[in-house]
Amino acid sequence: MRKTAFVLLALAVTGCARQVYSSGPAPVETRPVSAPARPAVVIDPVTSTEAVDYLLARGMLIPVAGVSVSQLHDTFDEGRDGGRVHRALDIMAPRGTPVLSADSGRILRISSNTLGGNIVYATDPLGRVVYYYAHLDAYQPGLTQGAMVARGDTLGFVGTTGNAPKDTPHLHFQVMRMPSDGKYWDGEPINPYPLILLSHEAARP
Ligand SMILES: [Zn+2]
Repeated sequence: MRKTAFVLLALAVTGCARQVYSSGPAPVETRPVSAPARPAVVIDPVTSTEAVDYLLARGMLIPVAGVSVSQLHDTFDEGRDGGRVHRALDIMAPRGTPVLSADSGRILRISSNTLGGNIVYATDPLGRVVYYYAHLDAYQPGLTQGAMVARGDTLGFVGTTGNAPKDTPHLHFQVMRMPSDGKYWDGEPINPYPLILLSHEAARP
């Protein structure tokens, strides 16, 4: 018995040593061990095609409460100020309507910027895609960066912060492929409109 335990221990030690002295890049410790734990951004980069297949398999919730598929309009290729292309889905709803998480996963960032106003970045459980919610009037109380969320959880409320016209409250919803460098704010956009349509079709009895 004692011998078996010793062998297992030896294997474990060897395993650790192999990792440390592997020929690949050495593991980099970016913070002191004593620092408070921060949520790690887990990423699993995939190709564009894989990202779309993955999203189709997961299904996508309409991220605004009470909005039906027939109320959606594809705004992905529309032009915007400064010659930009929209590359997102605008979902119209009265101010204060709950904004729902389109998928389960993790909150990456809660902040504000000039165009998006109050925004939330989130990712799926595997870190393959990024969800961006903008123009929020307010956040759901208690929502924190790094928190896990379930599909349908309230993230905030529809508004007009950022560059949204003050008389046109809506959610600006963008879906992106997680870039391999982890710069989740700079990922390649994927049109959520057909994905929501197909998710809705698949959910029909
Ligand atoms: Zn928009």
